[in-house]
This record gives sequence, structure tokens and C-alpha cells, in this order.
Amino acid sequence: VTTQSFARYTDSPWRVFEEARVPARRSRFAHPLAEDELVREAAGAAALVVGLDPVTAKVIGAAPSLRVIAKHGVGVDNIDVAAARAAGIRVVNAPGANTTAVADMTMALLLAAVRRIVPAHTSVVQGRWERFFGPELAGRTLAVIGFGRIGQAVARRARGFDMTVVAYDPHLPAEVFAEQGVRAAGLDECLAAADVVTLHLPLAPGAPPLLGRAELARLRPGAYLVNTARGGLVDEAALAEALRDGHLAGAAVDVFASEPPDGSPLLDAPNVVLTPHCGAFSHEANAAMGTTVATDVVRVLRG
Ligand code: NAD
Repeated sequence: VTTQSFARYTDSPWRVFEEARVPARRSRFAHPLAEDELVREAAGAAALVVGLDPVTAKVIGAAPSLRVIAKHGVGVDNIDVAAARAAGIRVVNAPGANTTAVADMTMALLLAAVRRIVPAHTSVVQGRWERFFGPELAGRTLAVIGFGRIGQAVARRARGFDMTVVAYDPHLPAEVFAEQGVRAAGLDECLAAADVVTLHLPLAPGAPPLLGRAELARLRPGAYLVNTARGGLVDEAALAEALRDGHLAGAAVDVFASEPPDGSPLLDAPNVVLTPHCGAFSHEANAAMGTTVATDVVRVLRG
């Protein structure tokens, strides 16, 4: 059973299932499913391919035939991995398949934020022809928090824009930073040094926001924040307040604590550019994520 959008945008994963003679049911939904809907969808399935749908212990308990849960993407924070493991169910994902897409989107959002592309567009369409100013990226410092695949790809792009890059990732050896021409630093040092902070770490289940009120206050006045990682990494109310009181110059956000973000304080905060969790949605990444997880699903089902 798949709940994923690759049903709509690419044929390649379906070919993988067809060639392996694995019958696949395509379910198409505009939004992630609610837990009860997923319980109904998953019943009787041997494999489940999900996007951001909540694969909770209840869903897992209600699907006794389930052998593999596949995340059409990287972050498995919507899957109760411990419950899956306890039930002998494999969890697979598609690391690397969307690195380029998310890194490109991060730069697109950053440039949109600093050069105010969205209000500029609106101004032209509405016949006002105002002029907008913003800082250049060259010579500014970018702090990359989480220096894995996407973080490193963003750092390479930022260096192409002549930015200085510092990065925080407590799980990596020093060589990784050196190879990328990036200075490794602690979280506090990164926040204090940054003109722009960009997040590229996973959301640990149940963890408090990495950037709460105190951490946001540590940023330089006039700094920007880009979040294409996970909404739960940032305290949205504190971020909205920092934008409203002018401490931060802008924020670009692809991911929200709850999605869609009905009622989020970011929706009416000033100087934001907001996108609907579509950082991974390049044609190439969508096809690569789909074929990677379809291939893994077939491999697990064949034992
Ligand atoms: P990755 O596993 O290659 O890199 C994640 C890095 O974060 C690792 O190097 C890890 O050591 C580091 N890390 C873990 N905990 C940390 C902490 N507390 N502080 C600092 N660093 C920490 O993953 P990736 O492919 O680079 O993806 C990064 C994240 O981006 C994913 O976990 C996912 O949540 C998010 N993502 C979002 C989209 C989107 O559509 N917007 C798409 C793909 C991934």
C-alpha cells in the first residue's frame, strides 16, 4: 500500500513493483493521513510506503501482515521505529535521493528571503511597482546545523555564493568539515557567528525544539533563519515573536510543527517566506525516492 505522491508524478516505482510481480495499491491523498485512516489503509498490507503519515504503534498493531515500512524520503520521525522493530518489521528510507532537491530549495528560500522575492512579486502583480532592498550573501556567515548530506550540499552552494560557512554536527569527525572547507564549531558559537542559520538535522522523537526563545535570542540582530529540516526543531511562537519585534530580519520555512500549519503563528508573521514541505519535490528526487524505496520493499518481501 502506498500513500505517497509518487503515485501521481512518476511511473518508475510502479515498474519496480510490476517487474517483481508485487501487487501495489496506489492511494492518493492531498495531505498526510490521520492515524485512523492509516489504520484502515494498512490493514492486510505486507508493505506500507508513506510520506509524512503517522505510522504509530496503533497502526503497526492493526497491521499483522506488515513486514516493511518504507519512508518515501529521509526523515523517519513520523514512524514509531521502536514499535516496528519490536514487531519484527523493517523500516527503510531513501537517504541521499533528495539531497540535491532540498539543498537547491534551501538556497531558493534563502535568496527569496533576503531579496524579498515574494513581496516584490506581489507588488508587481498588484500594480504598485515598489522597490525592495536586501543584503548580499557574499562575505556573510552561514551556520549549517546538522552537517550530513543536505547540510554539506548547502555548504557547497553557499561557498559558491562566496559565503563563509561554519557548521555544527556533534556526530562527525573533524575531517568531514575540513574536506568541505568549513569550520566546525559548537552550537552556541554557530548561532552567535551567523548572518544566516540553516537547519539540516533530524527531529528526534519527543525532543524539545533545538531553537527555542533563548537560542533565537542568541542570534545576531538582523539574522535570517532557514528551516527545510523539520518544524519541531524550532519554537514557532518564539520565531514569530523574533520576527515581529525585528530581532530577526526574515525566515524561510518549508516545514512546520503541524502540517498543514493551520493556526501557526508563522502564517501572519512579517518577513517570512513559507512553502508546503516541498523541499524534496524535484522531478529527479521524486523518481529516485520512489525507485529506491520500491526496490527495498521488493528486497524485504523476497527475504
Ligand atoms: P543525514 O542523515 O545525511 O544528515 C543529518 C545530520 O544531522 C547527520 O550528520 C547527523 O550527525 C546530524 N545530527 C543529528 N543530530 C544532530 C544534532 N542534535 N545537532 C546537530 N547535528 C545533528 O540527513 P539529510 O539527508 O542531510 O537530511 C537532513 C534532514 O532534512 C532529515 O532528517 C529530514 O528531517 C530533513 N529533510 C527535509 C526534507 C524536506 O522536504 N524539506 C527532505 C529531506 C530531508
